[in-house]
Amino acid sequence: MTNKGLRYLRWGLLAAILVYITVAAFLHQQSGPEKAASIHALCPYGGLETLYSLMFSGSFVKKIFSGTMVLLVLSLIITLLFRRSFCGLLCPFGALQEFFAKLGQKVLGKRYTMPDKIDIPLRYLKYLVLLITLLGAWITGTLWMSPYDPYAAYAHLSAGFTELAEEYFIGLILLVVTVIGSFVYDRFFCKYLCPAGAFYGILGKLSPNKVERNEAKCIHCRLCSKSCPVNIDVEKATTVTTAECINCQECVNVCPQNGAIAIKQGKKEIPALAVIGLVMGIFFGGILVAQATGFYKTLPAPVTEGSIVNVEEIRGSMTLADVAKGTGLSQDVLYKKLGIPENVPPETRLKDVSQYVEGFSPETARELLRQTP
Ligand code: SF4
Ligand code: SF4
Repeated sequence: MTNKGLRYLRWGLLAAILVYITVAAFLHQQSGPEKAASIHALCPYGGLETLYSLMFSGSFVKKIFSGTMVLLVLSLIITLLFRRSFCGLLCPFGALQEFFAKLGQKVLGKRYTMPDKIDIPLRYLKYLVLLITLLGAWITGTLWMSPYDPYAAYAHLSAGFTELAEEYFIGLILLVVTVIGSFVYDRFFCKYLCPAGAFYGILGKLSPNKVERNEAKCIHCRLCSKSCPVNIDVEKATTVTTAECINCQECVNVCPQNGAIAIKQGKKEIPALAVIGLVMGIFFGGILVAQATGFYKTLPAPVTEGSIVNVEEIRGSMTLADVAKGTGLSQDVLYKKLGIPENVPPETRLKDVSQYVEGFSPETARELLRQTP
């Protein structure tokens, strides 16, 4: 395959993953978490956020399932072998930023870079975000970062502005900043804010994978440096081992000089196509194996008679009929306890009851059920 073909292959794969995640997020909004997985369940970082709760109480935090842990383990294997290839080859939010960057380069004529004085300190911000979001999740036992997460805001775009503004206001602002930032500077969130990227960057330091430039063959055209979405000055480096490199292969695939730059696995050169094939194989092959062995679950178990033993398990996406069935209460008793008029259909989701009862929220239901024996 030609170098140009390899670049299109990577963009095609990223586009397919972005479309899949966008459709999954839309279906999740329309049909609820029992039918379509949330993006939290489909994001390996959710696995890291639930790790503490899993180790010390044996349970996942809300919205996280065994499938999320599978994704985390597969992304860790990929990182140990091929550094931040998850960011460069698989991440849908990274893809979204790169596509806006392509548009930006068409409109603005080039990819801008931040002045070093701002860029260098900002690069450390993502490590602080990693620390804060992990501590937040581990201490509270929730996906603490969710309201501030621009990726979560993106996945809830189809929920409508009211829900977005209520639940993801800061995430929405950060989404706008990410899109505009990427339009001008490319991979804005990846470079400065992404906690998952920070984590993969640290772990990827253990990987034998790197980009290596051959000074003897290089003609110093600077195409590699200009093509790098995270602004690494590849033409000035001999070996790229920085935690900033997302292993996107752009520098290798734009180089006009045969043998001037290559991806190395230890001392051996590895073709860009082989890296793509292995990363995809590990990730999607791993998911298929986990599915076949029944370990890949991304949806909550359906509500059955008496299955809700703790009111904290009640979610806004559950219908009133689900809550009645799960708690073992009759519909009449449940409606009385929650102060819901008889004319509200039992298929109404808890988060939609406010259409009939002003100010009602899923927390109102939990609170009222907590109070009554
Ligand atoms: S693109 Fe290739 S030839 Fe040009 S500066 Fe980079 S390594 Fe050297
Ligand atoms: S150095 Fe090369 S592989 Fe690494 S991020 Fe930049 S263009 Fe991609």
